[in-house]
Amino acid sequence: MKYRSTTGKAPEVSLEEAVVKGLAPDRGLYMPERIPSLPHDFFDRLPSMSLPEMASEIAEALFGEDVDSEALKALTVDAMNFPIPLVKVKDGVYSLELFHGPTLAFKDVGARFMARLLGYFNRGNKDRMVNVLVATSGDTGSAVANGFLGVEGVRVFVLYPKGKVSPIQEVQFTTLGKNITALEIEGAFDDCQNLVKQAFLDKELNESMMLTSANSINVARFLPQMFYYFYAWAQAVASGTDPENIVMCVPSGNFGNITAGLIAKRMGLPIKRFIAANNANDIFYRYLCSGEYIPCASIQTIANAMDVGDPSNFARVLDLYSHDHGAIYAEISGCTYSDAEIGETMKNALEETGYVLDPHGAVAYRALEEQLKCGETGIFLETAHPAKFKETVERITGKKLDIPQRLAAFMSGKKQTVSLPADFDAFKTFLLSC
Ligand SMILES: *Cc1c(COP(=O)(O)O)cnc(C)c1O
Repeated sequence: MKYRSTTGKAPEVSLEEAVVKGLAPDRGLYMPERIPSLPHDFFDRLPSMSLPEMASEIAEALFGEDVDSEALKALTVDAMNFPIPLVKVKDGVYSLELFHGPTLAFKDVGARFMARLLGYFNRGNKDRMVNVLVATSGDTGSAVANGFLGVEGVRVFVLYPKGKVSPIQEVQFTTLGKNITALEIEGAFDDCQNLVKQAFLDKELNESMMLTSANSINVARFLPQMFYYFYAWAQAVASGTDPENIVMCVPSGNFGNITAGLIAKRMGLPIKRFIAANNANDIFYRYLCSGEYIPCASIQTIANAMDVGDPSNFARVLDLYSHDHGAIYAEISGCTYSDAEIGETMKNALEETGYVLDPHGAVAYRALEEQLKCGETGIFLETAHPAKFKETVERITGKKLDIPQRLAAFMSGKKQTVSLPADFDAFKTFLLSC
C-alpha cells in the first residue's frame, strides 16, 4: 500500500517512509492510497471476537502488504493489551472507556502501536536511530513517552512548558529515563511546538539525525485508533443493540480520533452517523454551519486537550469526502459547549446516573443528550480518566476521586529533566550533542 499526501504535491511513499517522515514534504498529511473493505463475514464474526483478535485482522487489511503477518499480529496484540469496555451510562447511552491504558487516555492506543511499528521497521537496521520530537501540553507527552519506552532504535524528546503542566501529567514523562528525555522549556506550549516545527525544517539537523513526529499527523498513530470503533460496535451489538442505529460521538480537538472512525466506516463498519463534539474551540462546528473553514487562535477551556484552533486532521476529513461540504454534513454533525455547560453536564450526569465524566467525555455526553434521535443508540468516547483532571472534576462535582494505582505509581519516580530556554539555537545544539 502506498501513502499519498493530502496536498497532492509530493510523491507517494511506502508505509515505512510515511511513518518515519510523519508529515509529507509538501506539508500535506499522508493518507492510504485506497481504503480496503472488510469482508461481510468479518462483521458477522465481530460480536464474538476479542479486541486483540479484531485489531489484528483490521491491521492485516491495512498494513498487511507492508509488514510481515506474524510480526504485525504480535505487535498489534502487544499494543492492545488493556481493556476498552463499553459501559452503559443510561438507556441508549454508552461510554467507550478508553482510559484503561498505561497513561489513562485514548492516546495510549495510537502511541503504543506506532512505537512498535517503528521498532519493527528498525529491526535489522541496528545503526539507525529515529528521534521522535513531541511538544506537549500534558497528555500527548505521557502517552508517547510511555508507548516508546524501551523501544530499540528510537529516542524520544518531550518538550513541555515549565510550570504549565499539571504535576500528575509531568511525572508521567519526566520519571521514565532510558530512551526518553524530558526537556523543560522556559516558555509556553506554543514555544515548544514552534521549536519542534523549526527542527523539522532545519536542513543541518535533518541531515545529521532522523527526526519524526508522534502526534496524530502520523499515520501509525491515527489509523490504529479505528480498532476501538469496531470494538465499540461489536460490544453494543453483542448486548442486543440494533446494529444499524449506532451513533458515535467523539470529543474532538485535532480530529485524529474522529477521522479514524470515519475511515472505519469506509472499511464497512455500519456506524449510522458521527457527532464531532467541540468545546468553545468551535472551528469545525462553524465549518459545518457555513461551509467556510476559518482557523483561529485557540481558547483555553477545562477540556484542554481539545483546545485547538486549527485542527491538523481537518485536511484528512476534507480529503475523505473530496472537499464536499454536503457529504461531510450528511455524515457528521457538530456542537459546541462552553465551560459552564461542560461543568453543568458533569454535575447533572453524576446526579442522574452516578457516572463520573471527565471534561472531554462530558462534551460528547451532552451532545448525545441533545442530538440523539428516537431509535438510535449513542456511544461517546470517554477519552481520559476523570482522575487525570482531579482538581477540575472534584471542584465541579464535589465528588472526591481516588487516584488509580498506575497513576500513583508514577508519583514515586525521580524527576529527570533538561532545562532549556525557548530558543531554537540552544535546542538544536542540545539535539546535536545527543
Ligand atoms: C487528545 C485528546 C482529545 C482530542 O482528540 P483529537 O484526536 O485531537 O481530536 C480528546 N480528549 C482527550 C482526553 C485527549 O487527550
